[in-house]
Amino acid sequence: MKGIGTSAGIAVGKAFIVNKDISIEKAIISDSESEIARLIKAVNESERQLDAFLLKLRDEGNADSIEILRVHKAMLNDMEFISSIKSFIIDESVNSEFAVQMAAKRISDSLRTTDDAYLKERAFDIEDVGNRIICNLSGGFPDFSSIPEESVIVTKYLSPSDAAAIDKCRLKGFVTEEGSSTSHTAIIARTAGIPAVTGIDGIVGAVRNGDIIIVDGFKGEVILNPGEDTINLYKAKKLEHKEYRDKLKKLKNLPAVTLDGREFIIEANIGSGTDVGEVLNSGAQGIGLFRTEFVYMNSSDFPSEDDQFYEYKKVVSKMGQKRVTIRTLDIGGDKELPYFRLDKEAKPSICNGGIRFCLERKDIFKTQLKAILRAGVYGNVSIMYPMITDVSEVIRANRVLEEAKTELKLDMVPFCDDIKVGIMIETPAAAMSAHILAREVDFFSIGTNDLIQYTLATERSSRTEACNDYLNADVLRLIRDCICQAHKHGIYAAMCGEMASDPETVKILLGLGLDVFSMNPSAIPVIKDIIRSTTVEEAAKCACKALNE
Ligand code: PEP
Ligand code: MG
Repeated sequence: MKGIGTSAGIAVGKAFIVNKDISIEKAIISDSESEIARLIKAVNESERQLDAFLLKLRDEGNADSIEILRVHKAMLNDMEFISSIKSFIIDESVNSEFAVQMAAKRISDSLRTTDDAYLKERAFDIEDVGNRIICNLSGGFPDFSSIPEESVIVTKYLSPSDAAAIDKCRLKGFVTEEGSSTSHTAIIARTAGIPAVTGIDGIVGAVRNGDIIIVDGFKGEVILNPGEDTINLYKAKKLEHKEYRDKLKKLKNLPAVTLDGREFIIEANIGSGTDVGEVLNSGAQGIGLFRTEFVYMNSSDFPSEDDQFYEYKKVVSKMGQKRVTIRTLDIGGDKELPYFRLDKEAKPSICNGGIRFCLERKDIFKTQLKAILRAGVYGNVSIMYPMITDVSEVIRANRVLEEAKTELKLDMVPFCDDIKVGIMIETPAAAMSAHILAREVDFFSIGTNDLIQYTLATERSSRTEACNDYLNADVLRLIRDCICQAHKHGIYAAMCGEMASDPETVKILLGLGLDVFSMNPSAIPVIKDIIRSTTVEEAAKCACKALNE
């Protein structure tokens, strides 16, 4: 059976079906007050459970799932959601279970009608939060405590809270009916290093508990009740993969140097302070992209200078003298803040997001810059502006940075005065004016996730091939020109878009002269291995061929 391989690896185990269909009876009630009291009790209990899961995940160092569960907590506390449940109970005299289901459905249906993959994915979150409240009202949760050894979980979809409840030592793999490569199941599986295949329609009905099942997370294939020869073949493949991972582990403290001695820098992308342990473990030489949006998303309003300072300082101090590149707030497009959700007018879109939003809301921008400048005292910090399209934006942003420094000086607050300032090159306009921009900054970091979507008129969240077309010669020419301009002006060129972690493209980027590769920490060993197994000459040939020139 064919699906999407969303977490690499091979698993051979026994199917364990988790049925997540919750049946709810509609009942007419006469006492809405006591029904609302039941609801509040279930909401409080749900919050307590999420807090306990968060603690467990923190112990496991599972940063991705923590971010997702924090979103669930925010949904649980969302006044709009809770009020609409109460309105159903009062206006239609229905039981809490039914009211929760209706309210969650109304929100999830509207999220599913958007074209935005990020928002579509949030539909699962609101349903998951609704199901949690319903289970607390009715007392029925999927039982993960009795998972037998060597299990492959087969289910419709897997929520982050399910993942927190599962004993991962007994788990071999995941197979789900729903979910893309950006779904929660995929993220959870990748973080835990468990092979997963998602998007197999009807799998829950096709298997029985205890069936032998092979999960090929490389090819996105699932084989049910295979013969002995097939089992042995896959066991051998699994062993081969393990040997390869073991080899990669040994590279941790070795440099990313080519066979002919040219050294490159590998850094990591992070979304919050909880990821730093993983960064240090991966052998990254620094942080090439700290996406600060999550610091804002985890807050009920714009975070204060002090709150941000402590968050940044935590990361910077843990990294010691290793460089930490903190990107200033980049909202708009697919990244939104909960406090903008209710007010559609105020919500930044791609037209007024990124640096444009910060230049418009200088108060918010300056608060962040001050927090970063202060954190700079504790290590090696660089600032990076997102979504630049024109040099005037860099000049204006730097003016706000100077104002922030002057104010800190006047208030006698310690800060780092000679902080390096760079920009993301993620719009075609920025790539084409790289020769002008390079005069104003200390470094470039190429953001291919956005650069590709705007150059090739595609959508990064879509499953179209164009959005992952790293071999497109026009995109490669833009990248080459940025790198050349950076070097001509004596600054370095980094890349922090997903392309930097693509094994197929790495040699081309080496050949184009990229200096710094920044990526998800889990991708670092494979990329380092490729760099260490090639020569500059071979890489230059690959680049020439790819450019088609
Ligand atoms: C990019 O656009 O490539 C990038 C790294 O930024 P983000 O994915 O946060 O938009
Ligand atoms: Mg971007």
